[in-house]
Amino acid sequence: MHTPTPAQLLQVWERGGDPSAAARALLLLGCSCDDEAAIDELAALPLGRRDARLLELRERLFGSAIEAVATCPQCTATVEATFRCDDLRLPEADTAASALEHAAHGTHVQFRLPDSRDLLALEGCGDAEAARDLLLARCVLDVRGGDQSQAPRSLPPELQAEIAGAMAQADPQADLQLAFRCPECDHEWQPLFDIARFLWQELHAWALHLLREVDTLAQAYHWAEADILALSPRRRQAYLELCAP
Ligand SMILES: [Zn+2]
Repeated sequence: MHTPTPAQLLQVWERGGDPSAAARALLLLGCSCDDEAAIDELAALPLGRRDARLLELRERLFGSAIEAVATCPQCTATVEATFRCDDLRLPEADTAASALEHAAHGTHVQFRLPDSRDLLALEGCGDAEAARDLLLARCVLDVRGGDQSQAPRSLPPELQAEIAGAMAQADPQADLQLAFRCPECDHEWQPLFDIARFLWQELHAWALHLLREVDTLAQAYHWAEADILALSPRRRQAYLELCAP
């Protein structure tokens, strides 16, 4: 992994205007990946490993401290908490197996963990039921009851729920929960943390801020955008102070 340049990041932000969170996450990882041909490999990473890489990229771009804000579900107070990227990277993330087994109710199921390709495929689904059916069809590799092979869609609902639970348990990094405690009412809860959405929101704010700076410097000095983006943040800041009214 390398740290993308400001110009590369702006290109990612530009291309990610419309796509989904899954597509945006791939754009982000693609621009930090040393091998351009590896984009297919990134798309095939189980979501926990994808998220571990997004956390690493976030630390490179914006530092380790993550300030999260949530609304207390009990008293609706706004609660702020600071986490470090290291605290959010689980050790299991690198060891999550990609092919797993679950045996229950006389049925033996082989499945793999969902990845970015699955998320992209699920975007066309109209409702949660259709999405669950498609995810099972994609991720369940084999179903055997005795000597008989079965279709994933024929699995009873309780077994489908168990497989969903086994997937989450095998890839906890993909289902990351933060620990919040409300200072007003002492309520404790664990909201989900979606690094893909969080990092994209940060990138969006960063891009708008950077473009404002480019606009200011271009008006003051008549430099080209590429030249302004090539300045180090420190030098850019110095020029901004010099031309401030
Ligand atoms: Zn509260």
